[in-house]
Amino acid sequence: MLSLTQLIGDRALPAASGTWLDVHEPATARVHALCPDGDAADVASAVEAARSACSGWSSLPGSERARWMNRLADALESRIDEFARAESRDAGKPLALARDIEIPRAVSNLRFFAAAAMQFASESHQGQAGLNYTLRQPLGVVGCISPWNLPLYLFTWKIAPALAAGNCVVAKPSEVTPVTAWMLGELAREIGFPAGVLNIVHGLGPKVGQAIVDHPGVKAVSFTGSTAVGQRIAAACASSLKKVSLELGGKNPTIVFADAPRPGLFDTLMRSAFQNSGQICLCGSRMLIERRIYDEVRDELVARARQLRVGDPDDPATQQGPLVSRAHCDKVRGCIATARDEGAVVLCGGEALQPPGRCENGWFMAPTIIEGLGPYTRTNTEEIFGPVLSLQAFDDEEEALTLANAASYGLSASVWTSDLRRAHRVAERLEAGIVWINTWLERDLRTPFGGVKQSGLGREGGLEAMRFFTEAKNVCINLG
Ligand code: NAD
Repeated sequence: MLSLTQLIGDRALPAASGTWLDVHEPATARVHALCPDGDAADVASAVEAARSACSGWSSLPGSERARWMNRLADALESRIDEFARAESRDAGKPLALARDIEIPRAVSNLRFFAAAAMQFASESHQGQAGLNYTLRQPLGVVGCISPWNLPLYLFTWKIAPALAAGNCVVAKPSEVTPVTAWMLGELAREIGFPAGVLNIVHGLGPKVGQAIVDHPGVKAVSFTGSTAVGQRIAAACASSLKKVSLELGGKNPTIVFADAPRPGLFDTLMRSAFQNSGQICLCGSRMLIERRIYDEVRDELVARARQLRVGDPDDPATQQGPLVSRAHCDKVRGCIATARDEGAVVLCGGEALQPPGRCENGWFMAPTIIEGLGPYTRTNTEEIFGPVLSLQAFDDEEEALTLANAASYGLSASVWTSDLRRAHRVAERLEAGIVWINTWLERDLRTPFGGVKQSGLGREGGLEAMRFFTEAKNVCINLG
């Protein structure tokens, strides 16, 4: 049984309250770790430690900050297997997904923003009024709050730009999957990462997360999670006008036109619906299919979903692991019951699974495909965040756009067509922050990342993140 600690300054500490939370292994439903049950007292200590470190860290040359971040990335890379095993166990994801994609991406996040620390530059303006140059100054202490679905991947996606821009961080990983953030904190201590620059407080959202948001010493909050919590955070930040970045839920459409290029099509459509058991904010949970090819696409997807190997995340043959928690599994089952009540036809799946052996008590769901529901049903408008794909048919481009834009979310969309003009037309009219054409989840870390409507506020990635974590100050010189 692991006993996790918080990272406050350069010390590994239990919660000030001395209490602990159980952390479960989703594949077995057993408790495999104890997580500090932090509260406002721990947040206050972390903010204090961060404050003391701020002037030292922010006055380092960017190249020095980059050196520290690269050292952390190197240490993480040298332990990819260990981190991948921990992530797979903590979140229930297939080991290969953690080892080949998610932990390497955490390494890339650190390296990418280490480079940004050296290359970030500001603008100057002249020719209208004096000579102006803009300073981009770090904010001070910032809060980073991340969810459970891509634990270390999203944790590093937030802390890396914050650190690169010269801020000190108080970070909170999800209490559902806290292990790899704890391990990263231990690595930081091992390599002697400057004390107080990165602080990690563990615990429940309404206690630790809320305390980070409310603390007057925290100058900005970068949050990834559900829309409901994001709205609460935005409201809490409003009174102090605290800077806030919100990456929230999605109900992403995948639009398949009859002329969709076929090589690799079904492999990517399946990944976009079911990767990480559908627990990725970018998963395409609504597939809109041109009526001429609807039956063909539906039948192929159903055949493939029935073949997906659901089971022990440790087994190299496993393609889909369990859902992350009992509560989430119950929520997804409730959504399938709602779909049935709304008149959906369940084409495959729809039920919980109990793989034999060590995983018989785990929180597994069969990959589920449904059809027969209209665009404004709860099933087609509310986020399910599980291995559940809803199919709808359309007759023409206009109808595809109407269906796609019917949800109140607007994170991402993918469009499958061989018609270049149509691809551009549709991309322009989709209400989404990210549009993929003939691909899905292909990421260039320099691009703006984020959603519109109920999917969030602000953008992460590349310069957008560096700008969020700095304050612009214009200096104007009289040239007269
Ligand atoms: P969640 O909103 O329940 O929790 C996210 C984080 O916020 C956790 O660390 C949690 O402890 C904390 N939190 C909870 N209540 C809080 C409060 N009152 N104040 C401050 N912090 C609080 O989300 P989740 O269930 O962990 O994650 C799933 C959700 O995240 C889905 O809706 C998914 O779409 C979304 N998500 C979005 C993106 C994106 O980039 N847009 C990426 C991944 C996940």
